[in-house]
Amino acid sequence: MTKIGMLYICTGKYTVFWPEFYRSFEEKFLPGCEKEYFVFTDAPAIEYEDAPRVHRIYQEAYPWPYSTLKRFSIFLTQEDALRGMDYLFFFNANLTCKKTVTAEEFLPRPEKGENLLLVQQPGFWNKKPPFYTYDRNPKSTAYIPYNCGKDYVSGGLNGGTAAAFLVLCHELERRTEQDLQNGVIALWHDESQLNRYAAERSDYRLLTPAYWYPEGWDMPFEEKISVRDKARYFDVAAVKNKETKQRGFLARKWGAFCENYLPCWYCLRDTLLHKTLGAGR
Ligand code: UDP
Repeated sequence: MTKIGMLYICTGKYTVFWPEFYRSFEEKFLPGCEKEYFVFTDAPAIEYEDAPRVHRIYQEAYPWPYSTLKRFSIFLTQEDALRGMDYLFFFNANLTCKKTVTAEEFLPRPEKGENLLLVQQPGFWNKKPPFYTYDRNPKSTAYIPYNCGKDYVSGGLNGGTAAAFLVLCHELERRTEQDLQNGVIALWHDESQLNRYAAERSDYRLLTPAYWYPEGWDMPFEEKISVRDKARYFDVAAVKNKETKQRGFLARKWGAFCENYLPCWYCLRDTLLHKTLGAGR
């Protein structure tokens, strides 16, 4: 039977999502495969931890954004066990499986040269690369010039064959640490790192936002895996130490103008400058 390693991080307030995640994925996700749950948490106990394929692994609760940024090194603490799986997938804590997801529709297809599984980010599935929120900082290892890249993928659901995903974890852990030594944190943390990694390759299966469907959104996809609104469970800004600032009318108009027009100009500039992803970052 195909063995699936389910990678799940829930430190601090995020443990609230675990029971429904487990119940819904156990019931509807990849029926017929053997799912093994690796739950990285600082909670002293979690529901279902006595189930035979649930492993609670102690993980210190890092402050934001290290709780998400450091995920590659967190996974690698269990590398030996993860090597025993056929596939590995990471799930953001607040996901719920709404409809049956089969192996045929979800797993990478080796006959098509696919090793990884990535999902389009719902905010960008109908936009062009210059408008993606890739990391545009040339000092970051996740940097992507405006004239490069193809897809914008979600940091919250991704994976692949165990071998390919572990290679990804090692590489992105290395890049993250290199950035930290240079005083840099990629714009959207692990998600920016993942997008840069995807931009360098084509050996991935790309799924639509049907598999990353934020609660309450209206998109032309069947809602298979939904993203629960964290704000219904806790004060997200407090967890992330962010102030929620209300921008004035002019600031909002200026922001919209910049978002709509500046990427076109930057794309032209980067094309004229023959910018490339560059190697050996
Ligand atoms: N996370 C966690 N504890 C935290 C913050 C984040 O366990 O205090 C993990 C959790 O798996 C979460 C993921 O990091 O789903 C990404 O964080 P979040 O969902 O807040 O990021 P977003 O997708 O909103 O950027």
